[in-house]
Parts: sequence; structure tokens; C-alpha cells
Amino acid sequence: MKPAPFTYHRPGDVDEALNLMARFGSDAKPLGGGQSLGPMLNMRLARPGHLVDLNDLLELDYVRDLGDVIEIGGLTRHHRLATAPEVARDLPLLAKAARTIGHYAIRQRGTIGGSLVHADPAAQLPLIAVTLGVDVVLRSVRGERVVPAADFLQSIMTVDLGEDEIVTALRFPRQTADEYSSFDLFSRRHGDFAIVGVALTLRFDAAAAAAVEEMRLGLGGTGPVPQRMHAIEAAAVGNPIDAETAARLAAETAAAINPEENAEVPAAYRRELVETMIRHALLDAAGKRGQK
Ligand SMILES: Cc1cc2nc3c(=O)[nH]c(=O)nc-3n(C[C@H](O)[C@H](O)[C@H](O)COP(=O)(O)OP(=O)(O)OC[C@H]3O[C@@H](n4cnc5c(N)ncnc54)[C@H](O)[C@@H]3O)c2cc1C
Repeated sequence: MKPAPFTYHRPGDVDEALNLMARFGSDAKPLGGGQSLGPMLNMRLARPGHLVDLNDLLELDYVRDLGDVIEIGGLTRHHRLATAPEVARDLPLLAKAARTIGHYAIRQRGTIGGSLVHADPAAQLPLIAVTLGVDVVLRSVRGERVVPAADFLQSIMTVDLGEDEIVTALRFPRQTADEYSSFDLFSRRHGDFAIVGVALTLRFDAAAAAAVEEMRLGLGGTGPVPQRMHAIEAAAVGNPIDAETAARLAAETAAAINPEENAEVPAAYRRELVETMIRHALLDAAGKRGQK
């Protein structure tokens, strides 16, 4: 199938793009990497009258060190997140997750802004954004708004984005050198969207060397949006991560989630995956202590 007719616009800078978005409102759609919007246009699931191509907005393709925050432009491609040494150093969880998105060609085109707005419940970048507590920066001709990723992602493919707004950046809290990360996903075939994704960071108490001081745990694919498991995180604090604690926390997480019943992936199967993957992630992250 071919897309319904639309008028193609190729703005040269952010202001021009925002003016087009303001002018055409709900009849306009921004085009990032086109890896999700392209198929939606072809299947006529999206029928915008105006396509505003963001690909010449090179000022939105960057990774910027702002001290405690690493700011990433909305047009930054998955490939850069997966391969840039500064991302691997300052945001290792993001780098690991980005390497697992689709295939090479998709990572070359797909953008972080597009992935957040597309808001697939199993997508890697929304999961990392929720787990790390990222702020999403939105701009329109009316000004700038900053929304926590957990509020931005409202439901399946539904986000807090005005019809004239674009995502210009994401602000990530820098991961500290004493933080250990683990990312894992389970999919049927290499490159498929995940059935379940698990993102974890662990920091240990310097005084009580083996005890967890802070944990962040996020799950993808288990609900309409990625979930941060705050109660499990709190339960981990003060404990060493040995096989017994990892098994207990994993079982508590599996009991706390409520995945939808679905003929292809039964809820019980997803719960089992979560339990196994969290146990492995905890032991993986804890096992990295002293290996840096
Ligand atoms: C075969 C295949 C496999 C894939 N596998 C995975 C996978 O395993 N994991 C995964 O996470 N993703 C996967 N993807 C999706 C891929 O990551 C997309 O790149 C991503 O979901 C959307 O990013 P995009 O830049 O291509 O956005 P587009 O497709 O251009 O746009 C998606 C949506 O975001 C809007 N948009 C784009 N940029 C902006 C912006 N800056 N501001 C506001 N709105 C914007 C568009 O209007 C549209 O609504 C796969 C895609 C394909 C085709």
C-alpha cells in the first residue's frame, strides 16, 4: 500500500520546523528516522496532510556534557547512542540498550526523539528513559516545556505532546562511576521488539561494602508503558546481592506486575521471563563490582 497524499516540508532549522508545526497543527506530523512513521504512512494508519521532515535539523543531533546531566538532541540516531565512547562512559545503560534495537539499518536511521514519541511499550529507549529518570524537552512556537519521561509516556503509543510540539532533547542524569548496570531483553528472534526488557542499575554502600545503597529497576513489555519498580528498589537497599536475595527480589517483582493476558504471550510466561531475567540482571550487575 502507498501513503495517502501529503505535502512534504523540509525545514532548515528548528524555528522553521516549529512554525510549520504551529501552522498545520493536528494535520502535521514530524518525520524523524521514519522507521515507525514510514510503515504507518504506508499502511495508512497515519494520514497527515503535512509531513515536516526534521532530518536537516543537525542542531538536534548531539550528545552534550552538562555536568551532572548528559543532554542528547532529539534527532540523535540509535547508532550514535550505541557506539559513541562518551555514551558508553557516562550512560552505559543507554549504550547497552541502544545496541539491541532492531538491526543495523534501523539504528542508522531511528532517532531518540522518534522512539520516545512512538512509545512502543516494549521499546528500549522509553524503558531506559523511565529507569534513569530522564527529562524530555519539548519545544513549540509557544516556548519550551520539560516533562519527566514517566509522565510523558502516558499509554501505548500515547504521549504528552502538543500538536505543535517537537522533542528537541532528552536530559539524562549522568551515571556515576560506582554504578553497575545491566540490560537484557527477550525476543523471539534477534532484532524483534522485546517480549520483556529489564534495565537495572546498582550502587553499593562504600562503608558496608556489599550492601546496596541505591537500585533502579525498570521493566518494558509488562504494561502499556515502561514500569519503574520503586517498591522492589526500596526492598533491595541495605542487602547484599547474593543468589538468595536476587531470587527473592526477582520473585517479588514477578508477583508485583500485572501483564496483559494475550494469546501469543500468556501473562504467566511474561511473569516467568521477568523473574528469570531480573535474577540474572541482579547477579550480572553485582558481579561487575571490582571489574572496572
Ligand atoms: C524492522 C524494525 C524493527 C524495529 N525494532 C525495534 C526494536 O527492537 N526496538 C525499538 O525500540 N524500536 C524498534 N524499531 C523502531 C525504531 O526504533 C524507530 O526508529 C523508532 O521507534 C522511531 O524512531 P524514528 O526516528 O524512526 O521516528 P519516526 O518513525 O520518524 O516517527 C515516529 C513517531 O514520532 C514522531 N516524531 C519523530 N521525531 C519526533 C520529534 N523529534 N518530535 C516529535 N515527534 C517526533 C513522528 O511524527 C511519529 O509519530 C524497529 C523498526 C523497524 C522498522
